[in-house]
Amino acid sequence: MGVLALNGGSRAFKGSVLQWPVFDKTEETNLLESFRNNQWWYGDKVRQFEQEYARIHDCEYGITCVNGTVALEVGLRALGIGPGDEVIVPDYTFVATASAVATLNAIPRFADVDLDTANINFESAEKLVTPHTRAIIVVHFAGRPVDLDRARAFADKHNLALMEDAAHAWGSQWHGKGVGSVGDLATFSFQVSKNLTAGEGGIIISNKKAVADACRSYTNCGRTEGHPWYQHYLLGGNYRITELQAAILLAQLARLEDHTTRREQNAMALDKLLRQIPGIKVAPCSPGVTRRSYHMYMFNYLEKEFGGLTREKFLAALNAEGIPATQGYLHPVHTNPCFLNLRHSPRPENAWLSRKCNERKVFYDEVSSPNAARLCNSEMVWLPHALLLGNNRDMEQIAEAIEKIQNNQEEIA
Ligand SMILES: *Cc1c(COP(=O)(O)O)cnc(C)c1O
Repeated sequence: MGVLALNGGSRAFKGSVLQWPVFDKTEETNLLESFRNNQWWYGDKVRQFEQEYARIHDCEYGITCVNGTVALEVGLRALGIGPGDEVIVPDYTFVATASAVATLNAIPRFADVDLDTANINFESAEKLVTPHTRAIIVVHFAGRPVDLDRARAFADKHNLALMEDAAHAWGSQWHGKGVGSVGDLATFSFQVSKNLTAGEGGIIISNKKAVADACRSYTNCGRTEGHPWYQHYLLGGNYRITELQAAILLAQLARLEDHTTRREQNAMALDKLLRQIPGIKVAPCSPGVTRRSYHMYMFNYLEKEFGGLTREKFLAALNAEGIPATQGYLHPVHTNPCFLNLRHSPRPENAWLSRKCNERKVFYDEVSSPNAARLCNSEMVWLPHALLLGNNRDMEQIAEAIEKIQNNQEEIA
């Protein structure tokens, strides 16, 4: 199969990775329309986007905001989460899932994840429930929906609110229903790396009017619709997006269906090819997952079956073959200094939270999440979603690159 690109051979991947983000005349037209109509601010296009986006996910209400992190904070506040409340989160996710909880002086409790999907493990979550637990946040990692029947049953059993961090899951469906329609609410991100983007942006969707009203108020200075402009009911903030962002988002949304289909088709082809390579593990598709957005394509790398080749070296070889694979998150969320430092060096801004954690014996240096650690330390590999917008030949060449490394493992120093 030839010499490794790392050692001077030619690259296995001959295609080019689509530069992200993408736009066309639709974004241009929408933006120009807003400019020419002198509509720059929180207007008809914002409302139109909110309604269309919520509808796609089988939800009645949509409330845009500045980003996915703020969407999580606002969602938590709308569900009544506050100081001292405990919220179960997965230990393999972007930091915001947990930091949003801590920002409200509530206590994130870290559950382990499943090794094959990186989605929350409910047995691990079960062990974290206390009389103070008020909510669970599930993350649809890489766009693969969490088992939402199980999530709903878990939340109901323990009388918790269920939040879906759907920041990877635009358009994903569980048993034919959009993510967000099972939880009390779901949050999304439109940051520039995401599959649907306006550079920055976020949205909260829900089927509950009271939750949606609270989210609208918190994002819009505590106002209440139909009441005087300068009358403020909640201690909200200004987390509104502009009409220009909505103009871009509407154009992006028109492309989502086609993009998702292409990513799914390519991912399924890649699944088949990679399953034939020893040392590469691709989780089977759960029948409940009827639509999957693929923010990244993930697989498990088993070093032992690559003759002990470390993931770091595997990734270097794969990068040299022309494939921009990464290891993803560096470590389980709870081992970020912002959580570890809570116990030992309380900073003034989180002294209260630190005290509360000590009272409750919630020590982040004692969290047990071996699977999250294994994914971070040695097993996880991410391929960017833009790769999945390529053609079938590209998928074959990704598999060829990995096979080439498998066949030449002893040639890597
Ligand atoms: C991107 C992301 C967020 C935060 O979104 P921002 O818009 O970047 O603030 C939250 N959760 C997960 C899982 C994410 O990937």
